[in-house]
Amino acid sequence: MTTTTEIEYALTPSESRVRKMYIGGAWVDAVSGETIDSVNPATGEVLASVPRGRAEDVDRAVIAARRAFEGPWSRFKPVQRQQLLLDLADLFDKHWDELSLTDTLDMGKPLARTRADKARVTGMLRYYAGMAMNLDGRTIKNSQPGDLLSYTSREPVGVVGAIIPWNAPIAASIWKIGPALATGCTVVLKPSEEAPLSPLLIAELMDRAGVPEGVVNVVTGNGVEAGAALAEHLGVDKIAFTGSTQTGQSIVRASAGNIKRVSLELGGKSPLIVCADADLDATVPTVAMAAFANSGQICIAGSRLLVDRSIHDEFVERLSIFASELRVGLGVDLDTEIGPLVSKRQLDKVVGYLEAGVEQGATVRAGGNRLESGAFAAGNFVAPTVFGDADDSMSIVQEEIFGPVVVALPFDTLDEAVERANATPYGLAGGIFTQNVGTAHRLAARVRAGSVWVNTYHLLDPAVPFGGFKMSGYGREGGAEHMDEYLATKTVWVNLD
Ligand code: NAD
Repeated sequence: MTTTTEIEYALTPSESRVRKMYIGGAWVDAVSGETIDSVNPATGEVLASVPRGRAEDVDRAVIAARRAFEGPWSRFKPVQRQQLLLDLADLFDKHWDELSLTDTLDMGKPLARTRADKARVTGMLRYYAGMAMNLDGRTIKNSQPGDLLSYTSREPVGVVGAIIPWNAPIAASIWKIGPALATGCTVVLKPSEEAPLSPLLIAELMDRAGVPEGVVNVVTGNGVEAGAALAEHLGVDKIAFTGSTQTGQSIVRASAGNIKRVSLELGGKSPLIVCADADLDATVPTVAMAAFANSGQICIAGSRLLVDRSIHDEFVERLSIFASELRVGLGVDLDTEIGPLVSKRQLDKVVGYLEAGVEQGATVRAGGNRLESGAFAAGNFVAPTVFGDADDSMSIVQEEIFGPVVVALPFDTLDEAVERANATPYGLAGGIFTQNVGTAHRLAARVRAGSVWVNTYHLLDPAVPFGGFKMSGYGREGGAEHMDEYLATKTVWVNLD
């Protein structure tokens, strides 16, 4: 399974395996000197160690970010911020091989997929570059007596604490840093302890692009140490968080100290509704990848599959065959479609759900087990799994598994399908598969979720807003709405008499 890219990685100098974090434009260790290891989930090998940042490190970074926000960065013209973002996009283009390989090694996503993410991430940077020139306020005709001018300006919200998960480290970093640079905010980014390496590479590219010191800082460390310290810090004006709903709840509580602005992209248990008239040849692969892409470790993974009873058995049969034919393997093998889970902890959690599904009476129609022989022995691999004969009360139907597991459930009427689709605390995404345009729009209107895809899935675009309903969070990333999350509206009244 050895590939050219693996050989390139093997040639990386060993010094680079002890990384530093990036604060105030300098590469530094944690104040404590402690480190944490980042492990390749496909092999169990330690890839690198990174500083174990804690409250005192977060404090240094917030001070640097505040100084930059109030200093020269505040005088950068929109066109200068735009140019920085365009330069960054060019640098990302140039260094994408290194970035994509780093994510593949650090969190397991197949290289073919991380390579393909290039267009999306560089597209995001170029989109934000455009938005940097489009942050105007309004002049408002008021009805007060006398001659009074009222207008608004849109001001950067300030120092942003960005806390991200491990499942898409590059895109998640840029979804926070990009709008901050466009609007004139500064950032302290806390990557996940499971996948800190590409965010550190991103810091290197920021440095190379000439982003002024303190504008972007990256503090590595654990969630309950560095993450919680950032969420509580009184010098932080906004937290942009992506991660689990449970952590999102702690972030909201921690933000109360100084009434921080908060945006939350949280978990999901997204329904896919397959109607009787769906085009099965097209729908089976789309549903399979909605569930299994990135080993199901995507917040919008389509993990609850509601299928019209008249086609249920045939659909599940075809989906199960598709699932069992997916190529599971090391991320660095370019043929791999499904890589490992990110960590041993995640593996144990997913295997726990596989066991619970069987115990609660569901039937395994494909997969259902950990893969541990041969090349899989040291990694965290699970076979793409399809469950049948389930009911809505089972934990595999109600809870976010974050693994390659989909549960099929038959339905009899569209009203019933919608009601059951909406019957979880989450509301991140949903998929509808039908050839009837009326059914498609009626269902899209009734599914309570921030994104609904019809006869497709997983599409994201820098110009299109993305975010959750209900316990999947609030705030939007992508589109003009995204900029609003990083801006505060100021109104000015002037007595012209
Ligand atoms: P997580 O909540 O465990 O961790 C996310 C980040 O928060 C990490 O950087 C972690 O170190 C930090 N953290 C943990 N505890 C913290 C605390 N008490 N205070 C502050 N920070 C803390 O999530 P994860 O396991 O890394 O990622 C998986 C979860 O993320 C899933 O629930 C998934 O649905 C969600 N997710 C959502 C989206 C979205 O856009 N809605 C995207 C990707 C992932």
